[in-house]
Amino acid sequence: MNLTDIDYIHELLHRHGFRFSKSLGQNFLTAAWVPADIADSAGLDEQTGVLEVGPGVGCLTRELSQRAGKVVCVELDRALRPILAETLEGCGNVETVYGDVLKLNIPELVREKLPGLRPAVCANLPYNVTTPLITAFIEAGCFETVTVMIQREVARRICAGPGSADYGAFGIFVQWYMEAEILFDVPPSCFIPQPKVTSSVIRLSRRAGHPVQVKDEKLMFRIIRAAFNQRRKTLVNALSSQIGEISKEQAEGVLAKLGYDTRIRGEVLDVGGFAKIADEILDIINNVL
Ligand code: SAM
Repeated sequence: MNLTDIDYIHELLHRHGFRFSKSLGQNFLTAAWVPADIADSAGLDEQTGVLEVGPGVGCLTRELSQRAGKVVCVELDRALRPILAETLEGCGNVETVYGDVLKLNIPELVREKLPGLRPAVCANLPYNVTTPLITAFIEAGCFETVTVMIQREVARRICAGPGSADYGAFGIFVQWYMEAEILFDVPPSCFIPQPKVTSSVIRLSRRAGHPVQVKDEKLMFRIIRAAFNQRRKTLVNALSSQIGEISKEQAEGVLAKLGYDTRIRGEVLDVGGFAKIADEILDIINNVL
């Protein structure tokens, strides 16, 4: 059984009367090197318990099964149930859960299904829910690594640094918790149906601590979102219009005190710069109270 052979996949899907769903982001892999390289990149061993989202016909699942202690895969499309029963037969360390991963309590699922193992995520994600899924994996707080294939454009945003056009609030959020790297690209020709865009495999590895200290993390992320919501505005204008607690003069005062040009835009600041600004603004808020 070759789960990436295009003729085999067509025969299998046809035999089960399966139809691809665009809304579920169903683009299945048809190049054997891709699931093998994704699974190799995830740093798995017998002590690892893997969460895979969206096994499809199970090509990546089988690769994960050979490398990890256990694999739990969550599939929303129940039409894949008889197909996976066939393709994953004999993979004794794979358990399949049918449902919407976004509605599951992920830490509870990991505790229940992967006890005593080092939890990791490895998946070819459905592209329409990439951002909420990555957010959920980070917020679950239990994964050491998250190795996933996503759209190249989103991969670049996640891994971008200051000054780049791809740099933004979501990338800063991810990098607050995880080291992020792009591993390799995968062209549309490696899937059926072919997506319109190139994909990238990224690996996120949990940091021992946050990159910098900040007194009020929530306030810092409000400031970051304000800066990137209106990225064409100067930081002073973005802050004074969206952070209700401070005036334009106070925002200018904060930047001047920290030695920044008061005409800068948020996109030039690294997370350390945002943290310092958040600490100054917190002082202003506390002094008013
Ligand atoms: N792993 C397979 C591969 O690489 O060929 C399929 C990947 S395909 C890009 C995404 C898979 O995620 C599909 O099987 C789809 O049905 C499933 N899926 C989509 N949304 C989901 C959700 N919210 N929860 C669980 N699975 C989902």
